[in-house]
Amino acid sequence: MLPYAIEHIEGKGRSMVAIRDIAAGECILEEKPLFRLSSGLLIWPLCAALLAFCSCAALASKLLDGIAWMSWLIFAVLIYAAVFKISLIIVIHDCVRRMSTEKRKSFFDLHCGRKSVLDMYQTTLTIFRRNSLGTDSGMGAMYATICLINHSCSPNAYHCWHADTRKGFVHAMRPIRNGDEIVHSYIDTLQTSPMRQEALSKNHTFKCACIACSAPEAARRVSDSRRALCSQLRAGIPSKADHGQKEEALQDAHALLDLLDTEFGDAHHSKSSACWSAYQIAMNMDHAGVAKQWAAKAYRFGLQVEGATHPNVIASKAAMW
Ligand SMILES: [Zn+2]
Repeated sequence: MLPYAIEHIEGKGRSMVAIRDIAAGECILEEKPLFRLSSGLLIWPLCAALLAFCSCAALASKLLDGIAWMSWLIFAVLIYAAVFKISLIIVIHDCVRRMSTEKRKSFFDLHCGRKSVLDMYQTTLTIFRRNSLGTDSGMGAMYATICLINHSCSPNAYHCWHADTRKGFVHAMRPIRNGDEIVHSYIDTLQTSPMRQEALSKNHTFKCACIACSAPEAARRVSDSRRALCSQLRAGIPSKADHGQKEEALQDAHALLDLLDTEFGDAHHSKSSACWSAYQIAMNMDHAGVAKQWAAKAYRFGLQVEGATHPNVIASKAAMW
């Protein structure tokens, strides 16, 4: 029996809701994408755009000089952006055209706006930009079901891409009770609330009213400073290690885990990557015993958010012994 159902929630539309208790770390669903824009498919939009840019620039260099040449260069950049966008629309539209009727309906059902024949080409790009989720390469993947999961800046689920099976997986990051909405984050959660609102408004055209964003101002300020510090520590760990400050980097990894615990509870996807960085730093310091402890933590946290079959989790399990 599936642990979820798709239900209508007022103000949110179709949403994913737990229909039984779900344990932390449990795989909620795995799904093959409707399509994904891999690096290979992006080559010809890039080539077409580069060709347009080079043609404009070459023409300008022959005919013009000085300020006129600069104006022409700006024009060439705009041409590049326009040709890239048009090529991208054609590539996405071709992916949609190849789908079965049922899958195509799932794809267009993700669009809440007008669906006229005239704006169909622009609509495919809009649906892709607002709903696609990250993979290992390219611009993302579209799913019939995973794309229905709503956003929260304090999510209870995590989506990841498994390159070996070419499927998207969603795991429960903490226990989810029967009747609770299943939510994951569309953006980096280690941003302050103004940064998150800007990213969501720009890329997904909505204002977030999740539990973190609608908290009283004082609580939001505390949360924002904690998330900003987490982001700073996360970025600083590899950089400190590269500059020979390995002990400090390991201390920062401990501090990051504590802060993430306070802000998000036991599970957050940054925990496994921080522990894996700490494992590599400890190995570089020839502290095999310490490194194994970090690998064990990376495995435990990775298992919760990515599942036992994810390559990162398999690697950290192997490093434990
Ligand atoms: Zn939010």
